[in-house]
Amino acid sequence: MELFNVYPVNPINIVKAKGSLVWDEQGTEYLDLYGGHAVISIGHTHPHYVEALKNQLDKIGFYSNSVLIPIQQQLARQLGEVSGKSDYTLFLCNSGAEANENALKLASFHTGRKKIIAFNKSFHGRTSLAVAATDNPSIVAPVNQTDNVVFLPFNDEEALTKAFREYGDEIAAVIIEGIQGVGGIREASVSFLKAIRSLSDTYGAVYIADSVQCGYGRTGSFYSHDYAGVEADIYTMAKGMGNGFPIGGITIAPKFKASYGLLGTTFGGNHLACAAAVAVLDVIKEENLLQNAEQVGNYLIEELKKFDQVLEVRGRGLMIGIELPEELAQVKKDLLSINKIFTGEAKPNVIRILPALNITKEIADRFLTAFDERLKA
Ligand code: PMP
Repeated sequence: MELFNVYPVNPINIVKAKGSLVWDEQGTEYLDLYGGHAVISIGHTHPHYVEALKNQLDKIGFYSNSVLIPIQQQLARQLGEVSGKSDYTLFLCNSGAEANENALKLASFHTGRKKIIAFNKSFHGRTSLAVAATDNPSIVAPVNQTDNVVFLPFNDEEALTKAFREYGDEIAAVIIEGIQGVGGIREASVSFLKAIRSLSDTYGAVYIADSVQCGYGRTGSFYSHDYAGVEADIYTMAKGMGNGFPIGGITIAPKFKASYGLLGTTFGGNHLACAAAVAVLDVIKEENLLQNAEQVGNYLIEELKKFDQVLEVRGRGLMIGIELPEELAQVKKDLLSINKIFTGEAKPNVIRILPALNITKEIADRFLTAFDERLKA
């Protein structure tokens, strides 16, 4: 049987990893500044994480959600603490798409409404509602197409206000990434997020903060929306939550009630996934990773802004987009083939940097030196 590759594949076989470094089978060392697309939050093979997963597997790997699973309670407690949202309810699932799918479903169920507001260049996942709210027609199948999703321009308060005035009583939810990831690292403005909050309150819509890529400490605060002083009704998360072990979740404001059966999953919140997620939160707290993300992130952003050839540096903390002129689009490929550095891309000429939250300044400097070398070449 042939394997269906979901992305174009680099013929590199990574066999070993530690922190922000990985090695291929020939022993060549690479810098990992992409973290498998914002998934590696506490670095590869962190000893506390490895031990926690091994211990859990020794005790019990899986039993159904129909019994008490204390480590789920522990995860909810710790997540409430680190996010400052102890009064929210946690529902556990397996991925970002599933988190958004369930958040949208819950919003529709709660409001009894069907319309969803999403934004240009959004990415929310590949399942039915999540992909319908994703602004990329090439990944939407006919069965996913729906008039219930309305796309508005990002950061355009006028268009948002107009939409709410016209059909506000039909809107179940507004779903937004605080910083668009796949869309090219674009940050929502504080006033835009405030407008979403206030219009959602006025018209009774649910404000969903897709924090799958921009959340979980990546920007220096736990949720990217925190800096705006705006609270969402539902936060969705995945990626960095399990540091590579599949787990997703949605945290739901106290005013919503999820009834039995409405949201559910066989694997969501299983013992191993929760052990991974608890270990991640332990390390985030123990090693002050929110602070590190802010410090090293700001340092990288400031240093990158000094390069003349760079058109724009966007983002916050360790979610960084470097926009280059089109004739320098090759830089990303050369960073990998010549300097052995993994980065991501959004459009051919935006380099995306999404490293582990415990990236050191030394690793950041190694990247800056290599980037300088590439631009000079
Ligand atoms: N939301 C955002 C903002 C994402 O970046 C992604 C993944 N790129 C998803 C949702 C979907 O997550 P998953 O691949 O885990 O389904």
